[in-house]
Amino acid sequence: YGDASQKVDYVFKVVLIGDSAVGKSQILARFARDEFSLDSKATIGVEFQTRTLVIQHKSVKAQIWDTAGQERYRAVTSAYYRGAVGALLVYDITKRQTFEHIPRWLEELRGHADKNIVIMLVGNKIDLEEQRAVATEDAKEFAEKEGLFFLETSALESTNVETAFNTVLNEIFSIVN
Ligand code: GDP
Ligand code: MG
Repeated sequence: YGDASQKVDYVFKVVLIGDSAVGKSQILARFARDEFSLDSKATIGVEFQTRTLVIQHKSVKAQIWDTAGQERYRAVTSAYYRGAVGALLVYDITKRQTFEHIPRWLEELRGHADKNIVIMLVGNKIDLEEQRAVATEDAKEFAEKEGLFFLETSALESTNVETAFNTVLNEIFSIVN
């Protein structure tokens, strides 16, 4: 993906937030490198990854930030949010608690980020449908109430990951143009 010699018209910083183990790092691995790992430690320590795409004939570099596990201690710092124009707010559809924590993450995000930030609520792990603990309707309702985009994804099966990022990036693009 991408070519260092290519000119970049825009750089959009997008942050991944949500409880530990919901699949943030794997969603990023899927989007940035089309990879998936069942080993959750695989990407720890990586600050961000980039992927350059074209939107309306402009070259857009998406700089996607991943927590290096700090969310476990609720120690995501303001530097993490600084300059972010987009966010994926992720929960695990098989873990009710991770959805119940979403309002807290949203509050933290809104407290730190730009007021025009584009936010996508993401219910990950839909390949585990038989273990579902969060109804699609509940999440959809919450997203509508809060003015968020909403999608359910599977990083494992590569379902909707591309669409989630593309929706956010296209929306950011339309705001700055
Ligand atoms: P993070 O802590 O939010 O970054 O979560 P990770 O990306 O490290 O994923 C936590 C665990 O969930 C790992 O074992 C992943 O392989 C697994 N995982 C992530 N996404 C999916 C998914 O879409 N489906 C399934 N079945 N497992 C997933
Ligand atoms: Mg992670």
